[in-house]
Amino acid sequence: MQIEIAPVEGLPLIKEGDDLPALICDLVSFEDGDILCVASSVFSKAKGYTRVLASITPGERAERIGTMCGEDARFIQAVLDESSDILLEAPFVLSELACGHVGVRAGVDQSNVEDGLLILLPPDPMAAAHEIRERVAGITGKDVRVVLTDTCGRSFRRGQTGTAIGWSGMTAIRDYRGDTDLFGHVLKITEEAVVDEIAGFANFVMGESNRGVPAVVFRNCPRWTGHDALYFTADEDITRAALKKMIQ
Ligand code: GDP
Ligand code: MN
Ligand code: MN
Repeated sequence: MQIEIAPVEGLPLIKEGDDLPALICDLVSFEDGDILCVASSVFSKAKGYTRVLASITPGERAERIGTMCGEDARFIQAVLDESSDILLEAPFVLSELACGHVGVRAGVDQSNVEDGLLILLPPDPMAAAHEIRERVAGITGKDVRVVLTDTCGRSFRRGQTGTAIGWSGMTAIRDYRGDTDLFGHVLKITEEAVVDEIAGFANFVMGESNRGVPAVVFRNCPRWTGHDALYFTADEDITRAALKKMIQ
């Protein structure tokens, strides 16, 4: 296995209305099976999933959380508006989005965008990944796989890593259950979150600041089989249950 990973260099600053997959296709000679990773921030900029901070009127809860967290209540209101369930209010808002993703500040970004503008996560990241894949197929005739990434913090560890929030052409999880290990033991619980592993390395290539690389291509990455049930259900998720108890 020799996987090649290449940054997509030379993309402009993305603005609303841009055909992002077409801009990427101008810079990359795709092959069937390539995995195209795209930063959710640029997808959102192209689609206009942004908000003007000054246009937001915070409600009572946003004012209260803003004071607790030392953050602009208008920003907090945007975070609340993106959230389907609040798991933690302070020292930062941790919430679930309608798509199932759980993230700090609902993934609302204030970096790599003009002052006073907020970048929201795409409301349907799975559909977003699918749309990019279809558009690349339409332009190039190539069957690429797509991962939409965002930089996220993690529980238990310092430091942010890339996380997959949408994917298309692959399953999120590679399922090892039923396989045997080197000693013949049957694996009972091993499910590998491959989309997050790929997003993590793509994020490393993109960087966080001013590198200007919002897309990365993996070539020669083997295929796998598994399933898409990446998010715990409410019943399974003991961390979420514990957090919810704290704010009740
Ligand atoms: P996120 O992880 O999806 O929130 O996105 P980041 O803001 O961390 O950006 C990821 C990468 O994309 C970094 O290399 C940024 O410099 C780059 N980037 C962000 N916006 C743009 C843009 O509009 N044009 C280009 N060319 N690069 C961008
Ligand atoms: Mn982000
Ligand atoms: Mn990032």
